Amino acid sequence: MADCVFDKIVSGQIPADIVFQDDKVMAFRDINPKAPVHILIIPKKHVVSVNDLTEEDLPLMGRMMAAAQKVASLQGLKAYKLVINTGAEAGQVVMHLHMHLLGGKRLEIPV
Ligand code: 5GP
Repeated sequence: MADCVFDKIVSGQIPADIVFQDDKVMAFRDINPKAPVHILIIPKKHVVSVNDLTEEDLPLMGRMMAAAQKVASLQGLKAYKLVINTGAEAGQVVMHLHMHLLGGKRLEIPV
């Protein structure tokens, strides 16, 4: 999508503090961190939200989970929270699927 901020990060049009990437996923620090470690893990392919995933995207979600495990390890985190906001009412602002990896402090379940 032409005006998707995360697509622009993937293409290098917008800079980001990238902590991990492979051919399918990218992980970069959130610009407005809510915890000492706050990293966003995204598919490089534009998928709007969990609601838009198809059967063929299931391996991609596995890659995102593997990336979360890798990023947490790289950050030295044994405990962390993964959050995927889905839809505006649930707090999704950027309409490109992303998983928040939060850690470095005690975290409650957000509601
Ligand atoms: P959402 O509320 O959609 O689940 O989360 C979107 C996240 O993207 C927010 O935590 C916000 O701070 C982050 N974000 C928005 N624009 C940018 C950007 O240009 N760069 C980075 N690194 N993070 C961004």
